[in-house]
Amino acid sequence: MAPHNTVTRRALIIGGGIGGLATGIALRRIGWEVNVFERAAELREVGAGLGIWANAMRALDRLGLAEAIRIARPPAPSGGIYTWRGQPVMTESHEALEQRVGEISVVLHRAELLDLLYGALGAEYVSLGRLCARISQNETGVTAVFADGSQITGDLLIGADGINSVVRSQIIGDGAPIYAGYVAYRGVTQFDPTRIIAGEYWGRGKRFGMAPMSGDRVYWWATRNAPAGDRMHAAEAHALLRTLFKEWADPIPAIIEATDPEAVLQHDIADRQPLERWSAGRVTLLGDAAHPTTPNLGQGACQALEDAVALADALAAHDDIAMALRDYERRRIPRTSRIVLQSRRIGQIGQWSNPLACSLRDSLLRNLFAPRQAAAIDPIVGYRI
Ligand SMILES: Cc1cc2nc3c(=O)[nH]c(=O)nc-3n(C[C@H](O)[C@H](O)[C@H](O)COP(=O)(O)OP(=O)(O)OC[C@H]3O[C@@H](n4cnc5c(N)ncnc54)[C@H](O)[C@@H]3O)c2cc1C
Repeated sequence: MAPHNTVTRRALIIGGGIGGLATGIALRRIGWEVNVFERAAELREVGAGLGIWANAMRALDRLGLAEAIRIARPPAPSGGIYTWRGQPVMTESHEALEQRVGEISVVLHRAELLDLLYGALGAEYVSLGRLCARISQNETGVTAVFADGSQITGDLLIGADGINSVVRSQIIGDGAPIYAGYVAYRGVTQFDPTRIIAGEYWGRGKRFGMAPMSGDRVYWWATRNAPAGDRMHAAEAHALLRTLFKEWADPIPAIIEATDPEAVLQHDIADRQPLERWSAGRVTLLGDAAHPTTPNLGQGACQALEDAVALADALAAHDDIAMALRDYERRRIPRTSRIVLQSRRIGQIGQWSNPLACSLRDSLLRNLFAPRQAAAIDPIVGYRI
């Protein structure tokens, strides 16, 4: 739908991650001028795999980008849970999920998704090497001021600048993110896909997940309980993981072994308390800046894609920016808040370390939760933006 207003309006988008680039595309599609400002000097091939669930495929469809992914049909993620020895606790085939929700889910490399979004938006709308230092606004416009001293004014500013958002700190000011008590390690390596049983394997205070990717690659992730900031060199992390998971189900030790030690990524897992408002005047938040989420449901980027579409829908429906932002919050805050809290709970339970509690957990999940898992998953993954 075209906006009612005939004067072209300009949105300043701070952050050129998945959320910021998707928002640029969504707003261009409703006739806005957009400028995305990314602090990194280049869009590097960072990150590992990313589960793009059916709900995010629907959002990508609204951006005109899902068909290319459907045609390539990369491998699907799995929500299955196994014990560390490989016994099934709660499993579901991706075919069954696809049939229930009517859309595929896929695993992409983060760099592949960023490339797709960047290509669709166009390099001319993205300014690299621009670190937003602060923002200010009045009745007629909003200004972003950059670390290099430059500034730009627009009609709307969107903070899509991630979990440590400068924009959020200015309009909300809720301090540092909440550390979840565990670290995640991630990697991608060439591996025989026929040896993989995709899903997450739960032990005591540690988990290991694996999912196939295109080109006979496997995307894996691992967690362990640790104090905040417990960083080490990638090769040391690799050595630690080899020890921590050496007795786990086949092929977990072999996957770690096959990974380039220097390419292991580490991430302190954190989220924030959900908010009741994301906006102030002409400024709003999107993606991790609005609702940083632990990765236990694989929904952070998926929700950022939904946000982008919902924000464009709200701006297309209202000429008045304040009304549009209220509408955007109404569409997004309840859903993303539920997901943040649900994901946090799953992580807390998944990281239990007491042996008795863990065996009780596994048996409750197997006997009580498994028969009801569709009722929990479908409202998230089956959502149609
Ligand atoms: C271990 C792990 C696994 C995950 N797995 C999944 C998954 O399977 N599926 C899924 O959907 N999600 C997953 N996520 C979550 C997902 O990575 C995030 O939710 C997603 O990247 C959020 O995108 P974003 O654009 O909002 O923020 P970001 O990706 O953080 O992007 C923010 C951008 O803003 C830039 N920036 C920051 N500050 C400034 C500034 N002041 N000025 C200019 N630019 C700035 C940054 O450089 C960055 O490029 C996972 C996360 C983790 C940690």
